[in-house]
Amino acid sequence: MRRKLVEHLQGKGITDTAVLEAIGRVPRHLFIDDTAFLNKAYDDHAFPIGCGQTISQPYTVAFQSELLRSSKGMKVLEVGTGSGYQCAVLCELGLKVVSIERHRPLYLLTKSRMRDLGYKASLHHGDGYKGVEREAPFDRIIVTCGAPEVPIALLAQLKPGGRAVIPVGLGEVQRMVVIEKDMSGHCKEMDKGAFRFVPMLA
Ligand code: SAH
Repeated sequence: MRRKLVEHLQGKGITDTAVLEAIGRVPRHLFIDDTAFLNKAYDDHAFPIGCGQTISQPYTVAFQSELLRSSKGMKVLEVGTGSGYQCAVLCELGLKVVSIERHRPLYLLTKSRMRDLGYKASLHHGDGYKGVEREAPFDRIIVTCGAPEVPIALLAQLKPGGRAVIPVGLGEVQRMVVIEKDMSGHCKEMDKGAFRFVPMLA
């Protein structure tokens, strides 16, 4: 089922082999608690994970991971841990992952799940709009909820030469924004299309 999912993602235009291999290794069925959705765990859909939140669609996870253009050993901040699925994909890419989640029950559930599965990410509970100051700076930043605007604190916590992938926009649909920070600290934004995310919470 996982192999089929990887082939499906290739068919949709994902070419980064490291990303495809990482997705091929993560047991997505172990990130879905609601047994009603278990037999669809490798379908290319988002599913409810409690607290009104969703595990991201595999295509979105693949697309954002590809846009990150990360390399092994980089330190990455994820905003919106949720189920931990995207976090696990980042771990499989060999990244040092710091992830923050707003909902305490989700944070606690995912913390024990990641421990059980042997994923060594540094998980935090709090408002990711402010980033994670004490673990900054980051080579890469990925936001997995729709931000009303590019959070200034996140840009401040991005290393010169770093890259951030942030869905930006109020309402149902967001623009996938890629931000590159050059060595002098100047940021350039690029638009990579329309996506749907659950909103970033205050
Ligand atoms: N990456 C997750 C996607 C979960 S959906 C996965 O693979 O499962 C987005 C998540 O962002 C939700 O869990 C939501 O609670 C969280 N979130 C929303 N606003 C947030 C904020 N301000 N700070 C941190 N997390 C936030």
